[in-house]
Amino acid sequence: MSHELITLTHLQIWDGHNILPEDSLQIQGNNIVGVAFVEELDNTGAPRKSRINCAGLTAIPGLIDAHVHLELNPDEKDPPTQTTAAVVPLMAARAAQMVQQGITTARDLGGGAWYELALRDDIAAGRLIGPRLLCSGQPITSPQGHCHFWGGEAANLEQAQQVLQRQVDRGVDLIKVMATGGRLTRGSQPTDAQFSQEIMQSLVDTAHAHDLPVAAHCHGTEGIHRAALAGVDTIEHCSWVGEQGWASDYQADIAQIILDQGIWVSPTVNKGWQRMLDSQTGNVLKRVRAAYKDMLALGIPLVASTDAGIPGVYHADLPQALAVFAKIAELSPTAALKSATSDAARALGIDHITGTLQPGLEADIVLLDGDPNDDLSALTRPAQVYCRGTEVLEFG
Ligand SMILES: [Zn+2]
Repeated sequence: MSHELITLTHLQIWDGHNILPEDSLQIQGNNIVGVAFVEELDNTGAPRKSRINCAGLTAIPGLIDAHVHLELNPDEKDPPTQTTAAVVPLMAARAAQMVQQGITTARDLGGGAWYELALRDDIAAGRLIGPRLLCSGQPITSPQGHCHFWGGEAANLEQAQQVLQRQVDRGVDLIKVMATGGRLTRGSQPTDAQFSQEIMQSLVDTAHAHDLPVAAHCHGTEGIHRAALAGVDTIEHCSWVGEQGWASDYQADIAQIILDQGIWVSPTVNKGWQRMLDSQTGNVLKRVRAAYKDMLALGIPLVASTDAGIPGVYHADLPQALAVFAKIAELSPTAALKSATSDAARALGIDHITGTLQPGLEADIVLLDGDPNDDLSALTRPAQVYCRGTEVLEFG
């Protein structure tokens, strides 16, 4: 790896929070080493040959998708019955597509054979290009429960602990628990809680003892309640599904527990949710909006995520999904950007590594033609992406 100092000049810089007065970013090795004014650089005699004039471009932190499945093929309607090595090159191709669209970090929340962990290590070592990956391995689920095909079934506390230990032994970055059923798996019901309070608590305590965060898949309200009480770190989907369907069972007292426990909500809004915005009746949209609005008003932070890999949701779709997420949750473009950069990094516990543009952090930078704080569609036209200091696209 080259350790030449690269200076990007004449930029507009949005650092994950604000537009900075400075106009230049300095990168060396994997890291951002300076944020400066180009005039100051002229005075210090910093070498000119490694300068890249970026006039007209806006720099933002690399995007973070908090919920993907590299193993899943979005073109397949049915979930896999088993995971075979044939998927490995497909996963590498998906990772490359993601980073080329500016997604420099992704959290993989489930696969069957830990191939995504091997991919994570290949990317980290520079052997393949792709986002920095945080991986959960096999999700812990009930017998024939949501995503049981990945091999994480557990009928009782002892088995659940065994599945957890198996993930720890493989070197996962976090633990995924299926607190409720889901739509992808026939026979499992989104409304039903899959584990008792005792098992949820035991899993969270064990994961935390290993310094591993816990992401809990939760559609139904009872599962949300148990996950919140157990103190998981992120609630995925948080769909408040009740007898009357999606978002029909929002409960403010449970939302208060989510807030009090410091839990982040990852609502997995993908670009396909545009359907909801286009729907004539709009009942589900009204309910979902009301739930998001209430959670946001309480102070519960929402983090961007797509559940990429499920049918019709492509791995590199986050830049387009953010615009839909902003419309559904009624977020400003800047709030939506934070949910995929600075806020997401805090939610995932990696804000000391990425998520903002400041010296000392890894150089995960997207250069855009246009300011996404004005119009999120600018995200779909990356002019350049740096991931850990490495240029991903050809300039020009
Ligand atoms: Zn998922």
